[in-house]
Amino acid sequence: MGNDFFYAQPVKIWFGDGCFERLGEVLDELKVRRAVLVCGRHFAGEAQLLKEKLPAICAIFSAVEPNPQLSGVAETARLARDCQADAVIGIGGGSAMDTAKYAAAIAPGDAEAEQYYHGALPLPEKALSIICVPTTAGTGSEVTQVSVISNGSEKRTTNHPSFMPKAAVVDPLLTLSVSPYTTMITGLDAMAHALEGCWSRNHQPITDLLAAEAVRLILENLDTAYRDGAAKEARAALSYASLLAGLSFALPKTAGCHACSYPLSENWHLPHGEACAFTLDSFVRINADDRLETLCRKAGLSGTKALADRIRAFKQEAGLKTRLADLGEVDIPALASACAVHPLMQNNPVRMDEAALEKMFEALA
Ligand SMILES: [Zn+2]
Repeated sequence: MGNDFFYAQPVKIWFGDGCFERLGEVLDELKVRRAVLVCGRHFAGEAQLLKEKLPAICAIFSAVEPNPQLSGVAETARLARDCQADAVIGIGGGSAMDTAKYAAAIAPGDAEAEQYYHGALPLPEKALSIICVPTTAGTGSEVTQVSVISNGSEKRTTNHPSFMPKAAVVDPLLTLSVSPYTTMITGLDAMAHALEGCWSRNHQPITDLLAAEAVRLILENLDTAYRDGAAKEARAALSYASLLAGLSFALPKTAGCHACSYPLSENWHLPHGEACAFTLDSFVRINADDRLETLCRKAGLSGTKALADRIRAFKQEAGLKTRLADLGEVDIPALASACAVHPLMQNNPVRMDEAALEKMFEALA
């Protein structure tokens, strides 16, 4: 095997406590003239104040829900077309950022959102500029070209260069009010991004470095931020770790654990982070090899078993679902089959066919 690799990172990143105050400067730097702002309902009041402060913001869509719907994308794209916007700003967790990304990609076209979503039309050649402001420490969506959008109960992950943000503004102070439960599940989602970026079949040396540092920081700080949301240093470390984790999987992509998260979210409505956490310690044991062992030691652990045990302890501490019995009625062969056919499963370093996945889920019964 050669030592060749490709690395690129096209997003301009602003990081630091209070850097959200500089959003106006970021818009100037990107030469944004008119932008639509996308956020959840909890941010609606602040969004209005921001619009009064920054004249470049021409419209607001503040009705993003968890598991964001295509209807929200369509409405945001309509607002962008109406005010001839050249940018879309997503402020929030993955839901707001993914809605902003998809809307920015389709707004330059003139067709309905459904036509792009179902593949009847390719995405327009050039997207509007995308600016992402994460308010949780987990998704890494601010530095990836992935957007996860649902249409009714169908949940679709699209990976496309048009979804790559132009800028990320990562202000840890925005995460201070995140609840303990969300802190835990987003922290474990970031842990899954880093570990999957590391054990992905497409991993490479630069992303390996980013992954190792992200895992170390999450192990050192997640407990503190979970217990004390106002712990600024721990919050900043987790925001930084989430950013590094996003960069670590942006090129290699995620693998088995994320592949399993989709059927778990679709059938039992687990939030994304909890769905990833559900199988994360199982995959640490399954994918354990020398590289993962090295990563664990760099993170201050004795090895892969200690990492799996720590992940399990995090889940128990926050009362997350850890067994199939916690989900309710589960048809193990059907679940294994749905996980096996997810495209990301191909990226797992250990081949996981239906039989192997059945065995993994039986151990979680
Ligand atoms: Zn994830």
